[in-house]
Amino acid sequence: MARYIGPVCRLCRREGMKLFLKGERCYTEKCAIEKRNLPPGQHGKLRKAKLAGYGLQLREKQKVKRIYGVLENQFRRYFEMADRQRGITGETLLQLLERRFDNVIYRLGLSTSRAQARQLVRHGHFLINGRKVDVPSYSVRAGDVITVRGTSAENTAIVHAMEEVKGRGIPAWLTFDAGQMTGRITSLPTHTWQVWRRLRADA
Ligand code: SF4
Repeated sequence: MARYIGPVCRLCRREGMKLFLKGERCYTEKCAIEKRNLPPGQHGKLRKAKLAGYGLQLREKQKVKRIYGVLENQFRRYFEMADRQRGITGETLLQLLERRFDNVIYRLGLSTSRAQARQLVRHGHFLINGRKVDVPSYSVRAGDVITVRGTSAENTAIVHAMEEVKGRGIPAWLTFDAGQMTGRITSLPTHTWQVWRRLRADA
């Protein structure tokens, strides 16, 4: 599946807020939002229009896409899936995005960013219920057990990430045993609007 490969800090500057796309760097003064919170482009300084209606909805949609690292077509498919299900479409949509395998790896604290989680998943470092899964968009289910595969437990990126994000905490719908390097999906993410509020506050 295609992914965005352009400059990522530009995406945060476009949204005017931190989207925490770069892991550790986002928490330092090197963050572009800390240094220069202006929309990208030579006319960035001039764009100060207040958003309403469609413009506001568009920006919110773009933020969600960018945070979860999905492109327009894939996001559209998620929306169609959410629209077909019972319940509040917005909440179902966020639940589907939260259930992505790369997001779960990030939430478990096995990577410093979703982009890194995506790469680790693609490289086949994790098992779900004992079977290798290397598809970042794989949708996890309640009861799934995620383990780090064999020697991947010594992978520098994973070890470093675990050390780095120790204090970040994990959502209530996941558990993680650091000794066994095993995570479990105890339930599906509910009250996703709260998850979303947290996402926006600390990604
Ligand atoms: Fe770049 Fe991270 Fe700052 Fe966004 S939050 S501007 S990705 S360093």
